[in-house]
Amino acid sequence: MSEHADLEVSELTKSFPTPDGALNILKGTDLDMQRGDALAVTGPSGSGKSTLLYILGLLDSPTAGTVRILGADPFALGEAEQAAFRNKNVGFIFQDHHLLPQCSVLENVMLPALAGAGADAAAEARARELLDRVGMSARVSHRPAQISGGERQRVAVCRALINQPAMLLADEPTGNLDPKTADAVGSLLLELNQEQNTILVCVTHSMSLANRFPRRMELQDGSLVNAPNQQD
Ligand code: ADP
Ligand code: MG
Repeated sequence: MSEHADLEVSELTKSFPTPDGALNILKGTDLDMQRGDALAVTGPSGSGKSTLLYILGLLDSPTAGTVRILGADPFALGEAEQAAFRNKNVGFIFQDHHLLPQCSVLENVMLPALAGAGADAAAEARARELLDRVGMSARVSHRPAQISGGERQRVAVCRALINQPAMLLADEPTGNLDPKTADAVGSLLLELNQEQNTILVCVTHSMSLANRFPRRMELQDGSLVNAPNQQD
């Protein structure tokens, strides 16, 4: 057995330089998660939720502290190696799906697989399987503009999972959805977390979504603290 947690964050800090001095957003936060764990992160607007998630997703780098993913330190890697590590190990879901409008649903899901070894039948089969899993089989040739907001978010979930990442990160994935659709996308994330054995970290404003997660933490003054079950 490995001595490390699958995701191990230690003394993580992030400061942004501004004309008025450094803005300290993350002030030394720690987090341990194993594959199969699901964590909801809440906190007021501007508390650093996206900043934290972007660092975990290797879309930004820490000011200090360490992040280990599956025992590796991705910030010690060169640019190309880090990009390959991210593509293989991290799936990211944005509030606003970020699908490419000119590509079909199927092509959008396959895109992260094309960045690796090249298009192959296995990637397409997996994309179709995932789209079937989220109830989108009949819409594979449609473009994002031809499907609803909730459907686009389901496609974005498939795209995030195409490379079978160890970690699935979602930044307010239901923020633009009506409550019923948001509920369905929340259920999907939690079900897939168990089925695919991912580390799931979901940032959300919605207490009703957060309350469905087995583990909840809140960003308070730059640190993650355990959060109780709360009302909206
Ligand atoms: P949240 O997602 O919790 O709403 P963010 O992580 O997006 O918050 O932002 C946290 C704080 O950091 C905000 O005050 C934001 O303005 C600031 N911030 C984020 N990115 C930058 C940046 N690149 N430069 C300066 N300040 C930033
Ligand atoms: Mg945010």
